[in-house]
Amino acid sequence: MIIGILGGGQLGYMLALAGYPLGLHFRFLDPSPEAPVGRIAARVTVPFDDRRALEKFAGGLELVTYEFENVPVESARFLEKFVPVRPSTVALEVAQDRLTEKQLFQKLGIPTTEYVTPKVGEELEPLLKKLGYPVMIKTRRLGYDGKGQWILRNADGMAAAREELPKVPLILERFVPFTRELSVLAARSRSGEVAIYPLVENHHREGILRLSLAPAPNLSPAVQKAAEEAARSLLEELKYVGVMAIEFFEHEGQLLANEMAPRVHNSGHWTIEGAVTSQFENHLRAVVGLPLGSTAPIGCSAMVNLIGELPETKDVLRVTGAHLHLYGKTERPGRKLGHVTVHAADAENLSARIAELPASFRRPEFCLGEQTRGRVIAPAG
Ligand code: AMP
Repeated sequence: MIIGILGGGQLGYMLALAGYPLGLHFRFLDPSPEAPVGRIAARVTVPFDDRRALEKFAGGLELVTYEFENVPVESARFLEKFVPVRPSTVALEVAQDRLTEKQLFQKLGIPTTEYVTPKVGEELEPLLKKLGYPVMIKTRRLGYDGKGQWILRNADGMAAAREELPKVPLILERFVPFTRELSVLAARSRSGEVAIYPLVENHHREGILRLSLAPAPNLSPAVQKAAEEAARSLLEELKYVGVMAIEFFEHEGQLLANEMAPRVHNSGHWTIEGAVTSQFENHLRAVVGLPLGSTAPIGCSAMVNLIGELPETKDVLRVTGAHLHLYGKTERPGRKLGHVTVHAADAENLSARIAELPASFRRPEFCLGEQTRGRVIAPAG
Protein backbone atom coordinates (compact mmCIF):
# COMPACT_ATOMS: atom_id res chain seq x y z
CA MET A 1 0.00 0.00 0.00
CA ILE A 2 1.52 3.34 -1.04
CA ILE A 3 0.66 6.47 0.92
CA GLY A 4 1.21 9.87 -0.69
CA ILE A 5 2.47 12.62 1.61
CA LEU A 6 2.41 16.32 0.77
CA GLY A 7 5.50 17.91 2.30
CA GLY A 8 8.84 16.19 2.70
CA GLY A 9 10.22 17.69 5.90
CA GLN A 10 11.13 15.99 9.14
CA LEU A 11 7.50 15.24 9.99
CA GLY A 12 7.14 13.28 6.75
CA TYR A 13 10.47 11.62 7.39
CA MET A 14 9.33 10.39 10.80
CA LEU A 15 5.94 9.33 9.39
CA ALA A 16 7.72 7.09 6.90
CA LEU A 17 10.01 5.66 9.58
CA ALA A 18 6.92 4.75 11.62
CA GLY A 19 5.10 3.36 8.60
CA TYR A 20 7.69 0.94 7.23
CA PRO A 21 7.21 -1.59 10.07
CA LEU A 22 3.46 -1.53 9.28
CA GLY A 23 4.24 -2.59 5.73
CA LEU A 24 3.43 0.81 4.24
CA HIS A 25 5.28 2.49 1.39
CA PHE A 26 5.50 6.21 0.72
CA ARG A 27 5.71 8.70 -2.09
CA PHE A 28 6.36 12.35 -1.20
CA LEU A 29 5.70 15.59 -3.00
CA ASP A 30 7.76 18.61 -1.99
CA PRO A 31 9.12 21.50 -4.06
CA SER A 32 12.48 21.47 -2.26
CA PRO A 33 15.27 19.22 -3.57
CA GLU A 34 16.74 19.40 -0.05
CA ALA A 35 13.66 17.87 1.66
CA PRO A 36 14.80 15.35 4.32
CA VAL A 37 12.62 12.51 2.98
CA GLY A 38 14.88 12.32 -0.08
CA ARG A 39 17.12 10.11 2.08
CA ILE A 40 14.54 7.40 2.62
CA ALA A 41 11.66 7.49 0.14
CA ALA A 42 10.54 8.19 -3.41
CA ARG A 43 9.92 11.89 -3.89
CA VAL A 44 8.56 14.18 -6.56
CA THR A 45 10.20 17.61 -6.60
CA VAL A 46 7.55 19.92 -8.05
CA PRO A 47 5.54 22.93 -6.82
CA PHE A 48 2.41 22.06 -4.82
CA ASP A 49 0.21 23.68 -7.49
CA ASP A 50 1.53 21.80 -10.52
CA ARG A 51 -1.73 20.07 -11.46
CA ARG A 52 -0.30 17.76 -14.07
CA ALA A 53 2.33 16.58 -11.57
CA LEU A 54 -0.34 16.22 -8.85
CA GLU A 55 -2.47 13.98 -11.06
CA LYS A 56 0.54 11.84 -11.91
CA PHE A 57 1.55 11.76 -8.23
CA ALA A 58 -1.91 10.41 -7.27
CA GLY A 59 -1.61 7.41 -9.62
CA GLY A 60 -1.46 4.14 -7.66
CA LEU A 61 -1.74 5.79 -4.24
CA GLU A 62 -4.07 4.40 -1.55
CA LEU A 63 -4.58 7.85 -0.04
CA VAL A 64 -2.89 11.21 0.42
CA THR A 65 -2.08 12.87 3.73
CA TYR A 66 0.05 15.90 4.57
CA GLU A 67 2.79 16.83 6.95
CA PHE A 68 2.78 20.55 6.11
CA GLU A 69 -0.31 22.66 6.75
CA ASN A 70 0.37 25.36 4.20
CA VAL A 71 -0.23 23.06 1.25
CA PRO A 72 -2.57 25.09 -1.03
CA VAL A 73 -6.16 23.98 -0.29
CA GLU A 74 -6.92 24.02 -4.04
CA SER A 75 -4.15 21.47 -4.62
CA ALA A 76 -5.49 19.16 -1.90
CA ARG A 77 -9.02 19.55 -3.37
CA PHE A 78 -7.71 18.75 -6.83
CA LEU A 79 -6.06 15.58 -5.51
CA GLU A 80 -9.37 14.55 -3.91
CA LYS A 81 -10.72 13.94 -7.42
CA PHE A 82 -8.28 11.04 -7.81
CA VAL A 83 -7.59 9.70 -4.34
CA PRO A 84 -8.94 10.11 -0.75
CA VAL A 85 -7.24 12.95 1.16
CA ARG A 86 -7.07 12.58 4.95
CA PRO A 87 -7.43 14.65 7.12
CA SER A 88 -10.09 16.40 5.07
CA THR A 89 -9.38 19.60 3.18
CA VAL A 90 -11.87 21.38 5.50
CA ALA A 91 -9.46 20.94 8.41
CA LEU A 92 -6.61 22.19 6.26
CA GLU A 93 -8.58 25.25 5.21
CA VAL A 94 -9.67 26.19 8.74
CA ALA A 95 -6.15 25.84 10.13
CA GLN A 96 -4.57 28.01 7.43
CA ASP A 97 -6.24 31.19 8.64
CA ARG A 98 -5.88 32.27 12.27
CA LEU A 99 -9.31 33.95 12.06
CA THR A 100 -11.30 30.91 10.87
CA GLU A 101 -9.40 28.83 13.41
CA LYS A 102 -10.43 31.13 16.25
CA GLN A 103 -14.00 31.32 14.98
CA LEU A 104 -14.18 27.52 15.07
CA PHE A 105 -12.83 27.47 18.64
CA GLN A 106 -15.50 30.00 19.62
CA LYS A 107 -18.29 28.10 17.88
CA LEU A 108 -17.35 25.01 19.89
CA GLY A 109 -17.11 26.94 23.17
CA ILE A 110 -13.33 26.51 23.41
CA PRO A 111 -11.94 29.59 25.20
CA THR A 112 -9.41 31.52 23.12
CA THR A 113 -7.38 34.73 23.23
CA GLU A 114 -9.29 37.99 22.65
CA TYR A 115 -8.59 39.31 19.16
CA VAL A 116 -9.57 41.77 16.44
CA THR A 117 -9.03 41.53 12.68
CA PRO A 118 -8.39 44.88 10.98
CA LYS A 119 -9.02 45.39 7.27
CA VAL A 120 -5.84 45.61 5.19
CA GLY A 121 -4.45 49.13 5.62
CA GLU A 122 -6.91 50.05 8.43
CA GLU A 123 -5.54 52.30 11.18
CA LEU A 124 -4.61 49.97 14.05
CA GLU A 125 -4.50 52.46 16.92
CA PRO A 126 -8.25 52.56 17.75
CA LEU A 127 -8.39 48.76 17.67
CA LEU A 128 -5.33 48.51 19.86
CA LYS A 129 -6.93 50.79 22.44
CA LYS A 130 -9.77 48.29 22.67
CA LEU A 131 -7.44 45.33 23.22
CA GLY A 132 -4.87 47.09 25.40
CA TYR A 133 -1.07 46.75 25.31
CA PRO A 134 1.02 44.69 24.95
CA VAL A 135 -0.47 43.16 21.85
CA MET A 136 0.58 40.34 19.54
CA ILE A 137 0.27 41.16 15.85
CA LYS A 138 0.26 38.17 13.52
CA THR A 139 -0.31 37.60 9.84
CA ARG A 140 -3.54 35.62 9.48
CA ARG A 141 -1.89 33.23 7.06
CA LEU A 142 1.45 31.55 6.48
CA GLY A 143 3.03 32.28 9.85
CA TYR A 144 5.13 29.63 11.53
CA ASP A 145 7.98 29.35 14.03
CA GLY A 146 7.57 33.01 15.08
CA LYS A 147 7.63 34.28 11.48
CA GLY A 148 4.89 36.77 10.66
CA GLN A 149 4.58 37.75 14.30
CA TRP A 150 5.35 40.92 16.29
CA ILE A 151 4.85 42.17 19.84
CA LEU A 152 3.87 45.78 20.36
CA ARG A 153 4.53 46.76 23.96
CA ASN A 154 2.98 50.23 23.91
CA ALA A 155 1.67 53.02 21.66
CA ASP A 156 5.23 54.33 21.14
CA GLY A 157 5.93 51.35 18.89
CA MET A 158 3.11 52.29 16.51
CA ALA A 159 5.26 54.28 14.06
CA ALA A 160 7.76 51.44 13.71
CA ALA A 161 4.91 48.98 13.32
CA ARG A 162 3.39 51.02 10.46
CA GLU A 163 6.71 50.79 8.64
CA GLU A 164 7.38 47.16 9.31
CA LEU A 165 4.02 45.37 9.15
CA PRO A 166 3.24 43.72 5.81
CA LYS A 167 0.14 44.83 3.87
CA VAL A 168 -1.65 41.52 4.31
CA PRO A 169 -4.61 40.48 6.52
CA LEU A 170 -3.52 40.64 10.16
CA ILE A 171 -4.93 39.53 13.47
CA LEU A 172 -4.27 41.42 16.69
CA GLU A 173 -4.37 39.35 19.84
CA ARG A 174 -4.35 40.36 23.44
CA PHE A 175 -0.99 39.39 24.87
CA VAL A 176 -1.61 36.57 27.36
CA PRO A 177 0.75 36.65 30.36
CA PHE A 178 0.38 32.89 30.53
CA THR A 179 1.68 30.61 33.27
CA ARG A 180 2.88 28.18 30.64
CA GLU A 181 2.18 26.75 27.21
CA LEU A 182 0.63 23.33 26.82
CA SER A 183 -0.36 21.28 23.81
CA VAL A 184 -2.45 18.20 23.25
CA LEU A 185 -2.20 15.63 20.47
CA ALA A 186 -5.26 13.66 19.57
CA ALA A 187 -6.07 11.06 16.95
CA ARG A 188 -9.39 10.09 15.38
CA SER A 189 -9.73 6.98 13.26
CA ARG A 190 -11.94 6.42 10.24
CA SER A 191 -14.43 4.56 12.44
CA GLY A 192 -14.62 7.53 14.86
CA GLU A 193 -12.41 6.05 17.59
CA VAL A 194 -10.55 8.81 19.49
CA ALA A 195 -7.24 8.53 21.38
CA ILE A 196 -5.66 11.46 23.24
CA TYR A 197 -2.12 11.89 24.55
CA PRO A 198 -1.42 13.58 27.88
CA LEU A 199 -0.82 17.34 27.74
CA VAL A 200 2.74 18.44 27.06
CA GLU A 201 4.47 21.55 28.48
CA ASN A 202 6.19 23.58 25.75
CA HIS A 203 8.87 26.25 25.93
CA HIS A 204 9.40 28.57 22.97
CA ARG A 205 12.10 31.09 22.24
CA GLU A 206 11.73 33.62 19.41
CA GLY A 207 8.51 31.85 18.48
CA ILE A 208 10.28 28.50 17.93
CA LEU A 209 9.58 25.44 20.06
CA ARG A 210 12.74 24.55 21.98
CA LEU A 211 11.70 22.15 24.74
CA SER A 212 8.72 19.90 25.48
CA LEU A 213 8.16 18.10 28.78
CA ALA A 214 5.84 15.14 28.64
CA PRO A 215 3.57 14.50 30.36
CA ALA A 216 3.35 18.18 31.46
CA PRO A 217 4.52 18.39 35.08
CA ASN A 218 2.06 19.36 37.86
CA LEU A 219 -0.97 18.96 35.70
CA SER A 220 -4.39 19.23 37.28
CA PRO A 221 -6.89 16.59 36.09
CA ALA A 222 -9.35 19.42 35.32
CA VAL A 223 -6.91 20.99 32.85
CA GLN A 224 -6.24 17.65 31.13
CA LYS A 225 -10.01 17.11 30.96
CA ALA A 226 -10.56 20.55 29.39
CA ALA A 227 -7.90 19.79 26.74
CA GLU A 228 -9.49 16.44 25.98
CA GLU A 229 -12.94 18.00 25.64
CA ALA A 230 -11.59 20.65 23.28
CA ALA A 231 -9.78 18.01 21.20
CA ARG A 232 -12.81 15.74 21.07
CA SER A 233 -15.16 18.50 19.94
CA LEU A 234 -12.78 19.67 17.21
CA LEU A 235 -12.21 16.12 15.94
CA GLU A 236 -15.95 15.44 15.87
CA GLU A 237 -16.91 18.76 14.31
CA LEU A 238 -14.42 18.30 11.47
CA LYS A 239 -15.08 14.54 11.17
CA TYR A 240 -11.33 14.52 11.36
CA VAL A 241 -9.20 11.50 10.46
CA GLY A 242 -5.57 11.54 11.61
CA VAL A 243 -3.55 13.23 14.33
CA MET A 244 -4.22 16.84 15.28
CA ALA A 245 -2.35 19.13 17.68
CA ILE A 246 -3.89 21.97 19.67
CA GLU A 247 -1.69 24.55 21.37
CA PHE A 248 -2.94 26.28 24.50
CA PHE A 249 -1.91 28.93 26.98
CA GLU A 250 -2.50 28.02 30.61
CA HIS A 251 -3.66 31.26 32.19
CA GLU A 252 -5.26 31.72 35.60
CA GLY A 253 -5.96 27.99 35.79
CA GLN A 254 -7.79 27.99 32.45
CA LEU A 255 -6.78 26.83 28.99
CA LEU A 256 -6.95 29.33 26.13
CA ALA A 257 -6.60 27.76 22.68
CA ASN A 258 -3.97 29.48 20.56
CA GLU A 259 -3.90 27.39 17.41
CA MET A 260 -4.43 23.96 15.92
CA ALA A 261 -2.31 22.00 13.47
CA PRO A 262 -4.03 19.43 11.22
CA ARG A 263 -1.00 17.12 11.28
CA VAL A 264 1.58 15.47 13.48
CA HIS A 265 3.41 18.08 15.55
CA ASN A 266 6.81 18.95 16.94
CA SER A 267 5.43 18.81 20.49
CA GLY A 268 4.60 15.13 19.88
CA HIS A 269 8.09 13.91 18.96
CA TRP A 270 8.55 12.59 22.48
CA THR A 271 5.90 9.93 21.74
CA ILE A 272 8.44 7.96 19.63
CA GLU A 273 10.17 6.75 22.78
CA GLY A 274 7.86 8.09 25.49
CA ALA A 275 4.44 6.65 24.61
CA VAL A 276 3.09 3.19 23.84
CA THR A 277 2.31 4.29 20.27
CA SER A 278 3.97 7.26 18.60
CA GLN A 279 1.98 10.14 17.08
CA PHE A 280 3.42 9.14 13.68
CA GLU A 281 2.21 5.57 13.92
CA ASN A 282 -1.20 6.67 15.18
CA HIS A 283 -1.59 9.16 12.34
CA LEU A 284 -0.89 6.39 9.84
CA ARG A 285 -3.14 3.91 11.64
CA ALA A 286 -5.93 6.51 11.53
CA VAL A 287 -5.68 7.46 7.85
CA VAL A 288 -5.22 3.88 6.66
CA GLY A 289 -8.18 2.61 8.69
CA LEU A 290 -6.41 0.54 11.34
CA PRO A 291 -7.28 0.50 15.07
CA LEU A 292 -5.53 3.27 17.03
CA GLY A 293 -2.71 2.40 19.43
CA SER A 294 -2.53 3.32 23.10
CA THR A 295 -1.52 6.92 23.79
CA ALA A 296 -0.39 6.12 27.34
CA PRO A 297 2.96 7.66 28.30
CA ILE A 298 5.82 5.44 29.44
CA GLY A 299 7.63 7.32 32.21
CA CYS A 300 8.68 10.94 31.56
CA SER A 301 10.29 12.55 28.53
CA ALA A 302 12.00 15.81 27.62
CA MET A 303 12.30 16.66 23.92
CA VAL A 304 14.90 19.26 22.99
CA ASN A 305 14.99 20.69 19.46
CA LEU A 306 18.36 21.07 17.77
CA ILE A 307 18.16 24.38 15.97
CA GLY A 308 20.76 25.99 13.70
CA GLU A 309 23.71 23.86 14.74
CA LEU A 310 24.27 20.31 15.93
CA PRO A 311 25.98 19.07 19.08
CA GLU A 312 28.56 16.26 19.03
CA THR A 313 26.67 13.01 18.52
CA LYS A 314 28.78 11.06 21.00
CA ASP A 315 28.23 13.67 23.73
CA VAL A 316 24.47 13.21 23.43
CA LEU A 317 24.49 9.44 23.14
CA ARG A 318 26.64 9.12 26.24
CA VAL A 319 23.60 10.21 28.29
CA THR A 320 21.47 7.30 29.48
CA GLY A 321 17.99 7.42 27.97
CA ALA A 322 18.94 10.02 25.31
CA HIS A 323 17.72 9.36 21.77
CA LEU A 324 19.12 11.41 18.91
CA HIS A 325 17.09 12.12 15.77
CA LEU A 326 18.88 13.88 12.92
CA TYR A 327 16.88 15.00 9.90
CA GLY A 328 19.81 15.13 7.47
CA LYS A 329 19.64 18.90 6.89
CA THR A 330 22.60 21.24 6.55
CA GLU A 331 23.20 23.68 9.42
CA ARG A 332 21.54 27.09 9.02
CA PRO A 333 20.45 29.61 11.70
CA GLY A 334 16.91 29.01 12.92
CA ARG A 335 16.56 25.67 11.11
CA LYS A 336 15.23 22.59 12.89
CA LEU A 337 17.99 20.04 12.27
CA GLY A 338 17.01 17.34 14.69
CA HIS A 339 15.87 16.65 18.22
CA VAL A 340 16.96 14.77 21.30
CA THR A 341 14.46 12.99 23.50
CA VAL A 342 15.66 12.14 26.98
CA HIS A 343 13.54 9.48 28.57
CA ALA A 344 13.38 8.20 32.17
CA ALA A 345 11.10 6.24 34.46
CA ASP A 346 10.16 9.30 36.54
CA ALA A 347 10.66 13.07 36.82
CA GLU A 348 13.53 12.81 39.26
CA ASN A 349 15.56 10.51 37.03
CA LEU A 350 14.68 12.63 34.03
CA SER A 351 16.14 15.76 35.69
CA ALA A 352 19.31 13.84 36.50
CA ARG A 353 19.65 12.71 32.90
CA ILE A 354 18.98 16.20 31.49
CA ALA A 355 21.76 17.46 33.74
CA GLU A 356 24.12 15.00 32.01
CA LEU A 357 23.55 16.58 28.57
CA PRO A 358 26.61 18.35 27.12
CA ALA A 359 27.40 21.85 28.40
CA SER A 360 26.16 23.39 25.12
CA PHE A 361 22.61 22.43 26.19
CA ARG A 362 22.88 24.89 29.08
CA ARG A 363 22.69 27.76 26.60
CA PRO A 364 19.48 29.78 27.01
CA GLU A 365 18.08 28.83 23.58
CA PHE A 366 17.55 25.27 24.71
CA CYS A 367 15.13 26.61 27.34
CA LEU A 368 16.41 24.18 29.90
CA GLY A 369 16.33 27.29 32.11
CA GLU A 370 14.64 30.37 30.76
CA GLN A 371 11.84 31.25 28.35
CA THR A 372 11.19 34.21 26.04
CA ARG A 373 8.73 35.06 23.29
CA GLY A 374 8.43 36.62 19.77
CA ARG A 375 10.28 39.55 18.33
CA VAL A 376 9.82 42.97 19.93
CA ILE A 377 9.17 45.99 17.74
CA ALA A 378 11.38 48.68 19.23
CA PRO A 379 9.62 51.95 20.08
CA ALA A 380 10.23 54.54 17.33
CA GLY A 381 13.15 56.95 17.95
P1 AMP B 1 2.00 30.93 17.41
O1 AMP B 1 2.64 31.05 16.08
O2 AMP B 1 0.62 31.52 17.47
O3 AMP B 1 2.06 29.52 17.93
O4 AMP B 1 2.91 31.77 18.42
C1 AMP B 1 4.25 31.41 18.70
C2 AMP B 1 4.55 31.71 20.15
O5 AMP B 1 4.39 33.11 20.43
C3 AMP B 1 3.59 31.03 21.10
O6 AMP B 1 3.98 29.72 21.32
C4 AMP B 1 3.74 31.93 22.33
O7 AMP B 1 4.96 31.68 23.00
C5 AMP B 1 3.82 33.31 21.72
N1 AMP B 1 2.45 33.90 21.59
C6 AMP B 1 1.64 33.79 20.52
N2 AMP B 1 0.46 34.43 20.73
C7 AMP B 1 0.52 34.97 21.97
C8 AMP B 1 -0.38 35.75 22.76
N3 AMP B 1 -1.59 36.14 22.31
N4 AMP B 1 0.03 36.10 24.00
C9 AMP B 1 1.26 35.74 24.47
N5 AMP B 1 2.16 35.02 23.76
C10 AMP B 1 1.81 34.62 22.54
